[in-house]
Amino acid sequence: MEKIIFHVDVNSAFLSWSAVKRLKEDPGAVDLRTVPSIVGGDEKTRHGIVTAASIPAKAYGIKTAMTVNEAFRLCPGLLTVKSDFLTYEEYSRQFIAILRDFTDIVEQASIDEAYMDVSSTRRLYSSYESKEYGFPLSLAHALKDRIKKELGFTVNVGISENCLLAKMASDFEKPDKVHTLYPDEIEKKMWPLPVRDLFGCGKATAEKLKSFGIMTIRDAARADEKFLKKVLGEKAGIYIHESANGRGRDSLETERADSKSYSNEVTTEKDITAESFEDEAIPIVERLSESVSRRLKNDKVFGKTVFVSVKTSDFKRHSKQTALSGSTDSSKVICETAVSLLRELSFEKGRGLLLNGKGYRLIGVGVSGIDHGENRQISLFELENETSNGRDREREKRLDMLSDLLDKKFGKGVIKKGFDKGK
Ligand SMILES: [Mg+2]
Repeated sequence: MEKIIFHVDVNSAFLSWSAVKRLKEDPGAVDLRTVPSIVGGDEKTRHGIVTAASIPAKAYGIKTAMTVNEAFRLCPGLLTVKSDFLTYEEYSRQFIAILRDFTDIVEQASIDEAYMDVSSTRRLYSSYESKEYGFPLSLAHALKDRIKKELGFTVNVGISENCLLAKMASDFEKPDKVHTLYPDEIEKKMWPLPVRDLFGCGKATAEKLKSFGIMTIRDAARADEKFLKKVLGEKAGIYIHESANGRGRDSLETERADSKSYSNEVTTEKDITAESFEDEAIPIVERLSESVSRRLKNDKVFGKTVFVSVKTSDFKRHSKQTALSGSTDSSKVICETAVSLLRELSFEKGRGLLLNGKGYRLIGVGVSGIDHGENRQISLFELENETSNGRDREREKRLDMLSDLLDKKFGKGVIKKGFDKGK
């Protein structure tokens, strides 16, 4: 399936957040966003640097990281406010929480921006589609408008098939806008821009490229990659050439900083009911468990808590989780745990979600409580499972690990007996 990635970026984040807080405390105050204003430095002494500038301030040539003194020279009537990081963190948290209400597949890139993978949510959000906006524009507008309504600040949403293009798109005209940058729009929308505007192209790289006559992103895209590697170094050369041609990653790192987790979710083709549960929900959980397990194995990590989440036909999200006795990366363990969680969530007496006639529009499976193997659950069942998959070397490694662990815990020789018994 084609990927649909959003990049959501808060417009002049620190300035907007300071403005929103100010208005909350004093509804009669001037909205900092509507006048030349900056966050940072000290108004009286004019020391320090500009942390954020309003769009009217930017019109005077005021930029982030400029000295406050210089900013006042450009615009003497400038309003300044001190930065307030506690408030920023709180607004950032509320912003990300709204994104996560639309999908679990969210990668926070910084305090005020995040990527979302909305590829499988078309049916889930079909009610947002209108004559004006089909999917995914409809979803981007709904998301943007909800943030504005609930939190009081605006965002830009960039839409494409990968992170690089989505990020480039969100940087087009601001504020409060949705832009697409699909591969077939690169030539028109991205290539005319100066190469310095390419995400990841620093000032020094841009200067170097300019000295070779590479002025625009188009020039970089059409340049010989070998030449770029020679001039910029292997890694940067490849990066600039790939990005200028619109190529970038399309899978998100969904682990959260607060409670790391690996999850995948899918929108169902039609609502899953109590009647279709066995035939339709179980295969979805199996598939999702396999993909979560694959990602854990790729990253060589393990999770201790398994969770399932669903979205019901009334758009409410529900979830249920349980902690295992030790962490795991086994698809079988994740799947069996997730299936039993989903059964409880769906049919638990009196409270089961599927008992009252609602259906599921989305099902997700994930693990959290991530570690690097120090809390591993090593069961005979896993060992046997892996043998049957022909993963003999992995099995041996785990047997060794299990043996070491048990030796430490119970003294030497325990493993052989235990394993024989299991067979
Ligand atoms: Mg921003």
